[in-house]
Amino acid sequence: MPLRPYIVGNWKMHGTRAMLSEARAIDRAAQRHMKVEVAIAPPYTLIHPVHREAEQIAVGAQDCHHEEGGAHTGDISANMVADAGGKFVILGHSERRENHGETDAQIKAKANAALEAGLRVILCCGESEKTRDAGRAVAHVKKQLNASLPTFDEQPEDLRERVTVAYEPIWAIGTGKTATVDDIAEMHGEIRALLIKLYGEEHGGEMRILYGGSVKPENASEILSTPDVGGALVGGASLTADSFMGIALAAGETAEG
Ligand code: PEP
Repeated sequence: MPLRPYIVGNWKMHGTRAMLSEARAIDRAAQRHMKVEVAIAPPYTLIHPVHREAEQIAVGAQDCHHEEGGAHTGDISANMVADAGGKFVILGHSERRENHGETDAQIKAKANAALEAGLRVILCCGESEKTRDAGRAVAHVKKQLNASLPTFDEQPEDLRERVTVAYEPIWAIGTGKTATVDDIAEMHGEIRALLIKLYGEEHGGEMRILYGGSVKPENASEILSTPDVGGALVGGASLTADSFMGIALAAGETAEG
């Protein structure tokens, strides 16, 4: 059975306890859209409160450290995310790469640590506008993924569910610009081929590849019906239940065909 469309909200550095009512509304609405897997990644401080209240949606983190513990002021390990009720972690987001200088090697170490801690991983990749204009978008994304996707001595049976890739062109994040359907289809096709090469048809052929970058209820149907798009990673439009669940609704309709 193919996996359900995966609609994941990245709240970034937005949200105090006042936002819990929005998480509750998302959770209630998700119970009416069981054909779609809905999840949110709020700031660390809200992981446990959302986990305590949510019945349907999964809650996750926006990053984690690759070590289990130690002298790393301000950091949080994958085990701590899991202990707070987190089920997944977003890794390698372009804002982490840009603001914190994260490298592909560090992201790979984090991905391995997260899987070890029992979390699912959403691994982000994407090119800058300059790289796309230079015609190097596909090569850049493949290089990022080759260097940052987790490796296994023995692949777990549920690997296709545990590793998700999110293609997010940097120039489309928070800008209102989206990639064209042809560009999305080309990139997702290239990523699919790479996943099959790395993990085999059984896992790589089924792993979800999300698109991220200014996804909204108005453009969700078109994006989500593009070949090899298994869902969306959503920033701004995930902050209210209305807009976020508008995207989930589009995902459900697309899945039904
Ligand atoms: C993101 O930050 O992952 C993202 C896709 O943001 P937005 O939807 O706001 O472009």
